[in-house]
Amino acid sequence: MARKPHVLVVPLAAQGHVAPFMKLSFQIAGHGVKVTFVNSESVHERIMASVSADMKEQSLISLVSIPDALESRVGSVNFTKMAQRGMPGALKELIEEINQSDSSEQITCVLADTVAVWALEVAKEMGIERIAVHVAGPAVLALSLHIPQLIEAGIVDNDGTLVKGEAISLSNEIPAWSRSDIPWNSYDLEMQKAIFGLCYSFPKIVRFTNVILSNTFYELDPPALKLIPNILPIGPLYASNHTGAFAGNFWPEDSVCLSWLDKQPAGSVVYVAFGSTGRFSQQQVDELALGLELTGYPFLWVARSNLSNGSLTEFPEGFIEKVADHGKVVEWAPQENVLAHPSVACFVSHCGWNSTMEGLSQGVPFLSWPCFTDQLHNKRYICEVWRNGLGLDQDENGLITRQEISTKIKALLSSDVIKAKALHLKELARKSVNEGGSSFKNFQSFINQIKNI
Ligand code: UDP
Repeated sequence: MARKPHVLVVPLAAQGHVAPFMKLSFQIAGHGVKVTFVNSESVHERIMASVSADMKEQSLISLVSIPDALESRVGSVNFTKMAQRGMPGALKELIEEINQSDSSEQITCVLADTVAVWALEVAKEMGIERIAVHVAGPAVLALSLHIPQLIEAGIVDNDGTLVKGEAISLSNEIPAWSRSDIPWNSYDLEMQKAIFGLCYSFPKIVRFTNVILSNTFYELDPPALKLIPNILPIGPLYASNHTGAFAGNFWPEDSVCLSWLDKQPAGSVVYVAFGSTGRFSQQQVDELALGLELTGYPFLWVARSNLSNGSLTEFPEGFIEKVADHGKVVEWAPQENVLAHPSVACFVSHCGWNSTMEGLSQGVPFLSWPCFTDQLHNKRYICEVWRNGLGLDQDENGLITRQEISTKIKALLSSDVIKAKALHLKELARKSVNEGGSSFKNFQSFINQIKNI
């Protein structure tokens, strides 16, 4: 007889990972499966601080923590070194503790991030079933699985530097990666090596797991999905009513912007957000502010306090006063609700995978402004494959000017072709998660699998 299923969930300690894992966990728990969600202590504290005591009591999932091994934010090279510093030992102890505390509720499956291979290794060592979850797009995974062949063929070296050819092509239907948009591309060699090292660990995942869940849907990218063994697309992951309070936010949400949106005309607002990691020079922040002012459209801008290269974001003199009647600046928005709001016309985005899926699922056209890693290639999908948006181009000094921003916003908002493409993708996304759709069926088969371990 099958044991009572109990899934232990382990995301990377970063906003863009914890949030989709949270959505997935609530979806699993909604099928009567016990879920224990493991965060590093610092992330756990940030999340718990934003949740009321009542919600904690009612939560369908159990939130626990293990000590932070190191400063583990994305953007810091150190985050890739967690595996070597204490996290595996702490995870093993946690699993042993859970297993000993109630023999009827032992962990039956570890669901871990593809960038937390160490967690999958712990599960393997303990003889526990393993499922990986990939929260970025499938193309970056397909590329990473080819790294051993790329090194063998002398196309990239052991640090990930492209040494032969102008681009890496996996198929005619997937945009080739040029030197500037390979995911580990960075001006900083240490950072490049760290990200390349992470991607290089992905082939291990295929050996360690029978299934890799992916936050996408089959119809969005069959060519990349076909290159990945055992991939199970179950997205887009949507926040459920339960996730509302447990969105996994690292910053408190400013919900007032929703009532501000209510007051704006339908299809008029430019929504601007760069996820949790995007950073800009002060000069670039100024150009963005002045570009938004120049368009004259209403805008909602998520300007995290650390948007400007880690220091407090400053705006050009008089900017806030000048745009007060049609512009709103917040520190952190309820992004899924914002994108679903009828007043929103387009999304100026860094094209992180979650933001890409969230905007696409709501049929919102994109103005792509990627910063680093997979965001650079996600822009290529938006502009060249799905055609649900336009890209912003830098000038000769690497700056995206106010004129470029204003011109592209106007071009985007006047394109009925792009709007139609965006709405078509929304339709496809909905179909895939509705009863009978591809992601719906894949999710059912995944649930059956974890119920029968
Ligand atoms: N997000 C949010 N409010 C904001 C900005 C972002 O809730 O004001 C969420 C967004 O909905 C997404 C996540 O933060 O789920 C960011 O993930 P993404 O992969 O887009 O970017 P990352 O932060 O990993 O660079």
